Amino acid sequence: MRAFVEVDLKAIAKNIRTIKNQTDSEILAVVKADAYGHGLIPVAKAAVDAGAAWLGVALLDEALALRNNGVTVPIISWLTPPSTDFVGAVKSNIDLSVPSITHLRLIEAAGKKVGMRPRVHIEVDTGMTRGGLLNEWQEFLAVIKSAEVDVIGFWSHFARADEPEQDANAQQIKVFGEHLAELRAVGIDPTYVHFANSAATLTNSKSHNDIVRLGIAMYGLSPDVKIMGSGKSLGLQPAMTLNAELHLVKDVPAGSSVGYGGTAITSANTKLGIVAMGYSDGIPRNTSKAAGVYVAGKRAPIIGRVSMDQFVVDLGPDSTARSGDIAIVFGGAGYSIDDWASAANTINYEIVTRIASRVPRIYE
Ligand SMILES: *Cc1c(COP(=O)(O)O)cnc(C)c1O
Repeated sequence: MRAFVEVDLKAIAKNIRTIKNQTDSEILAVVKADAYGHGLIPVAKAAVDAGAAWLGVALLDEALALRNNGVTVPIISWLTPPSTDFVGAVKSNIDLSVPSITHLRLIEAAGKKVGMRPRVHIEVDTGMTRGGLLNEWQEFLAVIKSAEVDVIGFWSHFARADEPEQDANAQQIKVFGEHLAELRAVGIDPTYVHFANSAATLTNSKSHNDIVRLGIAMYGLSPDVKIMGSGKSLGLQPAMTLNAELHLVKDVPAGSSVGYGGTAITSANTKLGIVAMGYSDGIPRNTSKAAGVYVAGKRAPIIGRVSMDQFVVDLGPDSTARSGDIAIVFGGAGYSIDDWASAANTINYEIVTRIASRVPRIYE
């Protein structure tokens, strides 16, 4: 096969159980962005089987896809701009985040149309300055009292949980507590309070509350390799392996200019492998030679620029690799996802979420 992702669902289940042992809170498995590129439906089902009581997605379409595939656990969708089909959301029993009065009104109206009380989670902006209620908060307190919705949850999101030493975390927790107290003072007491992402779950038990929202850690990766250490050091097991076929293997002399722009020149006679994947498949174009593939028993670094559908690796003069061999791009004995992130000057989140949908996912 030209290129394929292998997803180890047992690793995902194990990572969820590992975290479950570290908290009394319920687990919400974050499966947005096609389960961080691992595949929405199989991952969601594996997560629920492993003990996740909730699922979380950004978009309503992701939530509806889960319902259409027979997933019955509560699902929160938190990125629902005003054009969202809130009627469809309420009908399908999707929990909705409320980050503004505008959203509250749209969701209420949808509930009235359907004849159901929408289930909502009030989102407050406690210092990230992105989603959630901020300037409208006092006005919101006045209107939520009589709103025809069921307030199931109250939540916020950390900006710097992967830097546990930062005062910003304690500050966000303080603001969160103040807002919750004000909400209770107007007679609204949400059943589920939630705040922690993976980094906060792993480093700050004070942030756990009733539910922890587990994303990257469930896929076996560290939220921040430099500060928190590798996924492995956190007791996690990566779930994704990426493989690609060698389209060609060729001997080239020293002094050969490789790829667009001639950015690399071979320093000695060598064998090059042409890997049948490129930036349209999610291989970052600017990846340096600090990443590459593992094939015929050894690592072969990238040489030259990544192209749209292919990239070139330096197999070394003695390589036994042949055209048609399957190379491991990351995972297993090869380069890690974190190696690729570092070589492309990005984060592991971006590496896994950007593997294109044209690359099939295979489950083991
Ligand atoms: C993506 C996301 C998470 C998970 O974050 P990780 O760092 O991957 O654990 C949690 N909560 C919200 C609201 C998110 O958008």
